[in-house]
Parts: sequence; C-alpha cells; structure tokens
Amino acid sequence: TRAVTAHDVVKVYGDGDASVAALNGVSMEFASGTFTAIMGPSGSGKSTLMHCLAGLDEVTSGSVVLGGTELVGLGDKQLTLLRRQRVGFVFQTFNLLPTLTARQNITLPLDIAGRRDTDPSWRDRVVDTLGLRDRLDHRPSELSGGQQQRVACARALVTSPDVVFADEPTGNLDSASGAEVLAFLRMSVYELGQTVVMVTHDAGAASYADRVVFLRDGAFVDEMADPSIERVL
Ligand code: ADP
Ligand code: ADP
Repeated sequence: TRAVTAHDVVKVYGDGDASVAALNGVSMEFASGTFTAIMGPSGSGKSTLMHCLAGLDEVTSGSVVLGGTELVGLGDKQLTLLRRQRVGFVFQTFNLLPTLTARQNITLPLDIAGRRDTDPSWRDRVVDTLGLRDRLDHRPSELSGGQQQRVACARALVTSPDVVFADEPTGNLDSASGAEVLAFLRMSVYELGQTVVMVTHDAGAASYADRVVFLRDGAFVDEMADPSIERVL
C-alpha cells in the first residue's frame, strides 16, 4: 500500500515574470512502512515537495494522495483536520513547548486531534521505541538536544499518522546525537511500521533510510535503494 503518492506535481510560486517553478512535474510513491530520504541541492524543491505531500502547500497542478485521500480540492479546514489526524511533523528546531513535560508534549497532538481516548498501549510502544521511558517527566530544558528531538519524534508518531515528515531532523544536532535520533526514527519504521519521509542534505543521515530520492531543479533525477553512506556521497 502507498502511504502517499505524488502524480505529476507542478508547483509555481508567484505569477508572470516573477514566477518560480519549484516543482516541474514530480511523480513519486512512498510505500507504507518505509523510510525515504529526499536529497538534492539547495533550491531543488525538497521543502516544496514535502509541503505539497503534507497538505501544507497547494499544488499548481497534479495530484497528491495521502492515505487514500486526494488532497487537491480539499479546503483549508479539511486540510488542517487531515494533517492533525494523519500527518506527523518533525522539525530541525524540535519546536517543543518549553513549559510542558516530555509526556505532555508527546500527548499534545492527541488532545488537539480530540483523541484523548486513544490506545495507551500505542503511546507506550512509541515512548519505549524512542527510548524515552525515563525522560517523561522532564521539561525540554532538562533534556539534551538528541533527547528533545526524540520527544519531537514521539509527538509526531503518537497519532499513528499515515506519514511522518521530517525536515532536516538532525540539522541542529552534533553527529552522535543525530545518529541516535536517526536510529530511533528507523526503529519506528521497522518496529512500529510507521512511514517516514525525511528531507536532508546530509548523506550520513540519508544512509539511515531504505531509499533515497534525488531532486534537481524541481524534478526527480535518481533514486537509490538501501543506501550506504559511501554510495550517497
Ligand atoms: P530546497 O528545499 O530544495 O532548498 P525549496 O523547495 O525551498 O528547495 O525551493 C525550490 C525553489 O522554489 C527555489 O527556487 C525557491 O527559491 C523557490 N521557493 C520556495 N518557496 C518559495 C516561496 N514561498 N515563494 C517563492 N519562491 C519560493
Ligand atoms: P493549527 O491551526 O492547529 O496550528 P496548522 O494547520 O497550522 O494547525 O498545522 C497543522 C499541522 O501542520 C501541525 O502539526 C503543524 O505542526 C504543522 N505545520 C504547520 N505549519 C507548518 C510549516 N510551515 N511547516 C511544517 N509543518 C507545519
């Protein structure tokens, strides 16, 4: 099954002489339970593609199907609801709420999605998979960068979304903490069956994925299965 599919996606920002074609007809499938890295030079359209796949940005033409739902044609309210229920986000800067404990940060998306009654065993599995069991009562300022990003990953996974989108998740971490976060993210794919799509410019980070797709000038150029760091570089 496909967690998310882009078909011939074109994205143009602005109009007339000032318009920029960020995506020039991208078709791509992301299978459920897989970990894909999107790589490419700065300006190649990685963020734009991720935003279109996540329903954060409207495509100019083409189609995006997320968990069986066509996003083209949905209104803002429907898209917001769909993101809350079915998409998880991990950012470069963690974006945890500083006054809440790790536990409260992790469960926030359930409250927002109105799913307080959700299966607690899933929550426990997410917390255990990310190695956060003994960190739940700490606030972000009491956690290392790597631990904060693992909390952010748990927050992204807690609703059991169709896809987790991670935008440069190791960009603010030293390489040891980054490697740790990626290893835990990988476990969420292989042990919990989650689907992760990660944008990165770091070949080392991409080597944790099981597929790397390369963009250039807003178009797909190449892909690689089971990347090793030597082959991605
Ligand atoms: P990447 O993530 O690979 O660096 P982006 O998706 O951010 O690439 O950008 C792709 C192209 O689209 C670039 O030329 C960029 O300048 C342009 N672009 C991105 N976002 C906007 C925007 N909001 N308005 C106008 N141009 C944009
Ligand atoms: P709300 O009104 O609840 O803030 P939004 O539509 O702004 O809802 O956001 C819904 C989801 O999309 C949230 O999980 C949020 O973290 C994510 N999100 C919002 N804006 C961005 C963005 N620019 N880039 C990545 N994720 C975003």
